[in-house]
Amino acid sequence: MNLQAPLKEYFGYEEFRPGQEEIIRHVLDGKDALVIMPTGGGKSLCFQLPALMLDGVTLVVSPLISLMKDQVDALNSAGVPAAFINSTLRPNQIADVQSEALAGRLKIIYVAPERFAVPSFADFLSELSVSLIAVDEAHCISEWGHDFRPNYRNLQSLRQRFKDVPVLALTATATDQVRRDIAEQLGLGGGRIFITSFDRPNLSYSVWPKKKSLPKLIGLLRGYENESVIVYCSSRKTTEKVAESLRDRGIAAKAYHAGLETAERHQVQEQFIRDEVQVVVATIAFGMGIDKPDVRLVVHHDSPKTIENYYQETGRAGRDGLPARCVLFYTYGDRHKQLFIINQSDDPEERRKAVAKLDLVIRFCSGGTCRRRFLLGYFGERYAKGNCGGCDICEPDLSVTQAVEEKTFRRVPAGKGDPVLFNKLRQLRKDLADERDVPAFVIFGDRTLHELADRQPKTLADMADIFGVGAKKLDDFGAAFLAVIQAHEPSPDSVKKPRLDTRLETKRLLEQGLDVGQIAERRGLTTGSVMSHLEDLAEGGDFPDVAHLQIEPKRLAKIGRAFKQTETDRLAPVRELLGEEYSYDELRMARLLLKLQVEAI
Ligand code: ADP
Ligand code: MG
Ligand code: ZN
Repeated sequence: MNLQAPLKEYFGYEEFRPGQEEIIRHVLDGKDALVIMPTGGGKSLCFQLPALMLDGVTLVVSPLISLMKDQVDALNSAGVPAAFINSTLRPNQIADVQSEALAGRLKIIYVAPERFAVPSFADFLSELSVSLIAVDEAHCISEWGHDFRPNYRNLQSLRQRFKDVPVLALTATATDQVRRDIAEQLGLGGGRIFITSFDRPNLSYSVWPKKKSLPKLIGLLRGYENESVIVYCSSRKTTEKVAESLRDRGIAAKAYHAGLETAERHQVQEQFIRDEVQVVVATIAFGMGIDKPDVRLVVHHDSPKTIENYYQETGRAGRDGLPARCVLFYTYGDRHKQLFIINQSDDPEERRKAVAKLDLVIRFCSGGTCRRRFLLGYFGERYAKGNCGGCDICEPDLSVTQAVEEKTFRRVPAGKGDPVLFNKLRQLRKDLADERDVPAFVIFGDRTLHELADRQPKTLADMADIFGVGAKKLDDFGAAFLAVIQAHEPSPDSVKKPRLDTRLETKRLLEQGLDVGQIAERRGLTTGSVMSHLEDLAEGGDFPDVAHLQIEPKRLAKIGRAFKQTETDRLAPVRELLGEEYSYDELRMARLLLKLQVEAI
């Protein structure tokens, strides 16, 4: 059977990722399987593509209600008729989905496991022609796993009811015990287990000393303007503190932890998915409900509890396969903090195990072994290459010494193509996404935009060859993207070489007489980012002599007094003192000008 054609037509991909094709053929043969593949490996495609090729409907069981809508939106935008049924829908909406399905107009239905206990849903199923049952996050069925969901036990009855329908169970984490449990409970007796490598070749790993972590973090984030970043901290208090320090440096960061109101947590998550908040500073409560493909950087501000946690948390970076970076700030002192938490437990056996796991984290951080080899070794996989080229042990560019010496934290270069055009395409993507009330990645992934900015297709036929462009998306969005590409005039200094230091470009435009707003617009950055460039330039003693940034002297003096009065250089207290008539942007500019004045004297 030709699988290449539907792969391109619906998903816009040219090739399968490792394991996918074999698994899909196995499923199309009507056989059961258990798939163990790392996060970002591409598990969804293993049931989405067969769903399209089989006659009836594919049921996808997923524990994460928050993700269902995004996944269904993504499928619909690719031209796959899909829907979900869960508690966020009203009864009449559920009835609509069910009648669509019974009329044969749906190929995929996502359901939460608790649905199977609802009698009316059971009635609906008895009329439905089900061709495949996919159990996503299958480890949730096992009490031995880290994320047991009692409702997953309902799936046993589902299996009995659909004896002849193949079941595909998928998970990123499963110890031997959990694997056996999944197979037994879902009755996968005759099925096969597919295990792909746990290596994430597009992720790089660095461990940096925690001393002065804040300036290091800020420096690092400067290389990730307009990109999605997660910073993990071990306590709620630290998340709040770090987020505030970042906001004070003009970086749009929000804290996320279990202590926030549900509505606020939901909002932060939503803003992150919609690219409205770039940096989320979070406890590990953040992540399970996040399937964002374009997280480019995951920072551990504090050591993780276990290697397994570290692998999972960093695994949220770079699902789309583009380069992404993982940086862990390490100090031996963190061990005491973790020990303190461990020692709260009354169970000596549990304490012993937790300490052993923690000490493995210490070995990971302080040892001289390739980080990738260590991680894979932990999961029982041998890494054959001598030098992985993607960790701070194998690659000096990724070590902190190099970064500090160069006073820059240059990023691993996230794509080719004209960066100005890329930003225009990104803006179009955001507009289209907002109009449709979906996350931007539902329209196109970053890799597609990079290829568009690089190859600059002129016709729809050219555009069809681009990664991620399937038939339906070409139809819906092709003309809009071509129009932006056509209208784009490459500016000679923006093409070819990516700038090494983004601040110098800001400086150049400043010297030409542009103000902050104009520079932001010209460069497709936020004014906050441009302000940070100015601050960095001032800090480095490299601030040009410009007159057009002045603030009216009276206002400046008043702001100056307010800074003195609050005895800090933070913006929030000054703003509180002066009131809304003074914007954060103005206060920030004033803080800079005042600092320059002092230095001039
Ligand atoms: P998982 O569920 O294993 O964590 P996903 O199914 O969410 O991974 O896929 C991760 C990302 O990889 C998604 O952005 C998806 O579109 C992309 N992807 C999947 N298969 C392919 C492929 N064959 N070629 C390119 N990208 C793919
Ligand atoms: Mg998945
Ligand atoms: Zn390495």
